[in-house]
Amino acid sequence: MANLRFQVVEEAFKKKPTEVITPVERPSEFFGKYVFNRAKMYKYLPASVYEKLIDVIDNGSTLDRSIADAVAAGMKQWAEENGVTHYTHWFQPLTEGTAEKHDAFIEHDGKGGMIEEFSGKLLVQQEPDASSFPNGGIRNTFEARGYSAWDPTSPVFIIDDTLCIPTIFISYTGEALDYKAPLLRALHAVNVAATEVCRYFDPAVNKVTCNLGWEQEYFLVDEGLYSARPDLMLTGRTLMGHDSAKNQQMDDHYFGAIPDRVQAFMKDLEIQALELSIPCKTRHNEVAPNQFEIAPIYEETNLAVDHNMLLMSLMKRVARKHGFRVLLHEKPFAGINGSGKHNNWSLSTDTGVLLHAPGKNAEDNLRFVTFIVETLMGVYRHNGLLKASIMSATNAHRLGANEAPPAIISSFLGKQLTELLDHIEKNDKEDLFDMAGKQKMAMDIPEIPELLIDNTDRNRTSPFAFTGNRFEFRAVGSEANCASAMIALNTAVAEALTDFKKRVDTLIAAGKEKRNAIIETIREDIKTCKPIRFDGNGYSDEWVEEAKRRGLDCETSCPIIFDNYLSEGSVKMFESMNVMNSKELEARNEVKWETYTKKIQIEARVMGDLSMNHIIPVATHYQSQLAKNVQNMRQIFPVEKAEQLTARNLKIIEEIAERTQAIETGVEELVNARKVANKIESEREKAIAYHDTVAPKMEKIRYQIDKLELIVADELWTLPKYREMLFIR
Ligand code: ADP
Ligand code: MG
Repeated sequence: MANLRFQVVEEAFKKKPTEVITPVERPSEFFGKYVFNRAKMYKYLPASVYEKLIDVIDNGSTLDRSIADAVAAGMKQWAEENGVTHYTHWFQPLTEGTAEKHDAFIEHDGKGGMIEEFSGKLLVQQEPDASSFPNGGIRNTFEARGYSAWDPTSPVFIIDDTLCIPTIFISYTGEALDYKAPLLRALHAVNVAATEVCRYFDPAVNKVTCNLGWEQEYFLVDEGLYSARPDLMLTGRTLMGHDSAKNQQMDDHYFGAIPDRVQAFMKDLEIQALELSIPCKTRHNEVAPNQFEIAPIYEETNLAVDHNMLLMSLMKRVARKHGFRVLLHEKPFAGINGSGKHNNWSLSTDTGVLLHAPGKNAEDNLRFVTFIVETLMGVYRHNGLLKASIMSATNAHRLGANEAPPAIISSFLGKQLTELLDHIEKNDKEDLFDMAGKQKMAMDIPEIPELLIDNTDRNRTSPFAFTGNRFEFRAVGSEANCASAMIALNTAVAEALTDFKKRVDTLIAAGKEKRNAIIETIREDIKTCKPIRFDGNGYSDEWVEEAKRRGLDCETSCPIIFDNYLSEGSVKMFESMNVMNSKELEARNEVKWETYTKKIQIEARVMGDLSMNHIIPVATHYQSQLAKNVQNMRQIFPVEKAEQLTARNLKIIEEIAERTQAIETGVEELVNARKVANKIESEREKAIAYHDTVAPKMEKIRYQIDKLELIVADELWTLPKYREMLFIR
């Protein structure tokens, strides 16, 4: 019987790039073609409605329900001109990805016919029958159902024949059941807190926007090879597979030439992304073979998150058109770099980025230092929570391994900024601040050298690095919804800024001059948050010891890391910033633990099945071939000669016997461990049991399988090998 593996490998080798139809227009012309953006709002809405809607979007004023009908009518007209027949409320439940339920525009016309209808009511609110979305017990079936509500700050867009309306998803009692609702609350909190602090420096500031520029890493695998790997199909990663003799040692893939088939995929993806207003800018190969990255220009965070969610689903569809599957899993292949999604984060006012070192006058520099230090304060106080916000069963494979950010959150500032903070910390002679006036301040906050702006990427091991005009949160996983990290980070910074303002105001009320009050408070905070600053090698063992001494969160078990969401400090922070209440936090943690358990459970099942149905049969088949050979040799040659000639085969026969036996025992133990864990009631304890007792057993089985892959005849091995999946174009 022909081995499917050889067939798919051969086909993959022969594949040619899929042709991409390039639009005749330039990107600037087809950008946003399928988005109801401002230009289209202007064109399709009455002037008064347009103005009210823009006011809602720009200034967060409340939506006047009376304009909803007019907005819906304009959207519908535009959509129909583009062949749209359906609409959907598009939302981000606590699973990965997005959810949508499509409804046709048609309604009965009361005269036995149909009319196309789309009213303001349908635009603004829907009740998706979504009882099977994870909700951690908030929305029990006997309770009222959840509903989705239009988010006017993220424009509607068209996918195929459907008008997609970005929405939040909440329960009737107001608890968030998604990522977007708490994200919007966190962005509001940071806007309020940062605006207040900005006004110390410039009373004209009205709004602070949070920016996010994500860098999406991913792997591509030929579709045929993918379909011959049940583990990839069902779990998103390879549960087994020996290293390829050549992988990333040569670093020859990074920034190398992009293969033709991949190039065609990227081109197609970018065109479609631009049509959806996703401002894609950068593409390149990544460190690992078959690993790539796509990054847009940064945007307002809510929009950037939506665009990332949209891009991930677009990638999956476009990849299939090109005979690929896109792997968003953080660690699809052991021993090879995993995929992350750097979240470049900054705050800005209408006048400029707050984390950009201006280097011109002392006042601006003081503002810059304030925002740097208070960001560090937020990250320091909630370093455990920030780790929890990026943690998942899949990202756990990446963190702490010797490649990606370590499983301890710390911040790299670079030499100049470190020196600057050290300088402020040490110059604490009172007389420096008693005298007001710029010159004195200029002495205290020295000129910030322009060089700082080029302070990029010097420490690749840092999970939260300052890179000139932003912080780069690098620990975020490739598959994750960026909102999770952005909720935690922005809330933490909002809390730090609020607290900062309170203390500065107290000093001012006690008679301190404003600038001196600010500097004194900053100085105190520089000292407090010092443990979070680390410019050394984040991969080293010494750092783990050092971080423990500093009191940073060093936990590595994913289910226990989730506890950070329920710590006293976290609950207080989320509640005081009006982002989430304890009920929401508890419910969400239930979902996190349950999701963790399910992921490992599925992997364990697939591991068991593949062991019994692929690996053991193939290995014993080869063993029989060898046994037959030994018998034949004994018939042909005299005893002693035969012994000598078959020694190697006998050894392999024995090794196969031992390894298959170990696999069988391993699978049995795996099943038993699952049975025990499944009986546990508490989601938290169950997840811990899966982490402690189930997951490690898979590693032991994998070890045996990978050894078998090396000795079993290549022609018999049914699963595509690493060298085939990773190097085929
Ligand atoms: P790299 O980190 O590889 O040097 P780039 O310079 O291409 O990457 O930038 C990565 C991302 O950071 C892009 O999405 C870019 O738009 C974004 N970015 C740049 N400046 C800022 C900023 N001030 N705030 C947020 N994101 C930013
Ligand atoms: Mg980067």
